[in-house]
Amino acid sequence: MIDLTKVRAETPACEEVLHFNNAGAALMPDPVVVRQLAHIHREAEIGGYEAAREAAEEIDGVYRSIARLLNAAPEEIALMENATAAWNAAFFAFDFQPGDRLLTGEAEYASNYLNYLKLARSKGLVVEAIPSTSEGELSIPALEAACAKPGVKLIAVTHVPTNGGLVNPAEEIGRVARSHGIPFLLDACQSAGQINLDVEKLGCDLLSVTGRKYLRGPRGSGFLYVRRGFLDQVEPPVLDLRAAKWVTPDRYELRPDAKRFENWEYNYAAVLGLGVAVDYALAIGLPEIEARVCTLATGLRERLAALPGVTVQDIGSRRCGICVFQAEGIEASDIRERLSAQGINTSVTDPNSTLLDATKRRLPDLLRASVHYYNSEDELDRFAAAVKEMVTA
Ligand SMILES: *Cc1c(COP(=O)(O)O)cnc(C)c1O
Repeated sequence: MIDLTKVRAETPACEEVLHFNNAGAALMPDPVVVRQLAHIHREAEIGGYEAAREAAEEIDGVYRSIARLLNAAPEEIALMENATAAWNAAFFAFDFQPGDRLLTGEAEYASNYLNYLKLARSKGLVVEAIPSTSEGELSIPALEAACAKPGVKLIAVTHVPTNGGLVNPAEEIGRVARSHGIPFLLDACQSAGQINLDVEKLGCDLLSVTGRKYLRGPRGSGFLYVRRGFLDQVEPPVLDLRAAKWVTPDRYELRPDAKRFENWEYNYAAVLGLGVAVDYALAIGLPEIEARVCTLATGLRERLAALPGVTVQDIGSRRCGICVFQAEGIEASDIRERLSAQGINTSVTDPNSTLLDATKRRLPDLLRASVHYYNSEDELDRFAAAVKEMVTA
């Protein structure tokens, strides 16, 4: 059982705002804030390089913490400044040839898909979106069928999309990928921190995550997981002197671990804060977090669905902490603003962020309310009451 009183006390903003924008940026717990500030002060006191050296052991620990979170090894982790940078480093590591096929899903994230289109144009990459089942998740039989035909270079799928509660069947996708020997890149940006991720079970070769969303870490932090056995099958798209060593005037050697995807410079305060955030989540327990987030989200959807003119738009047989809805006669942006005026944080998800899915389902802008374990049942009631007042006014 999660000690709600404790986690809320360690998140003082809980008393100031009703924060249902955890898919945007979750509230950081106090220890995450404190650790970052302490490091920034230390940099000011003794110098940036000196403060980093002083924290070297703790920085190593951040890799170990992230590895524990994913059931990976520290050598399989690269620290990145956000999930987009992590995903791009992974995606552009593949040497796509004209006619190579890329399989993705209908709920794919815009930034990922833009790069598929970019390589479709520049390299002749063939992009195929695997259809969803009637429930809304990526269809495993359809994926199997697509993999049975030759030329699939990569399966790249978003685990939890930005535009709703859908959880794609990543483990089954991983199983298909493995059985066909096809590399699998998983965008776990929205799932890390709210779903118990285990890279062995997921069967992915590469996985990208951000710090600020469900992990409750700092903005401008993220990481990439690269499976050890996969490391030498791709080459980072860009190198620096951390990624590789310049050994003779015309030769370089990549470093042996996933840090070959990193840049030498990073935001040490953010990295230390991310480490604390991961430890904080691990101390509570990912299975416990997942169960509570799921319970709260179900409660929220039930409350919203009971309101006149409100349509909940979450799909998928398995759903997470992200809830999206529309209300008859009120634009999502109006709802967001009126909620914001009452100290309620949400966001709007627009069709362009997940265009394939939004087009297929003819979705308008949707109000996105994303809950975390530190939210309370009382907040669900307050939120539903606030929406009710708008739709019945
Ligand atoms: C937010 C998001 C990203 C991008 O993460 P950044 O840290 O902002 O780069 C990628 N994929 C999905 C599904 C997201 O929701």
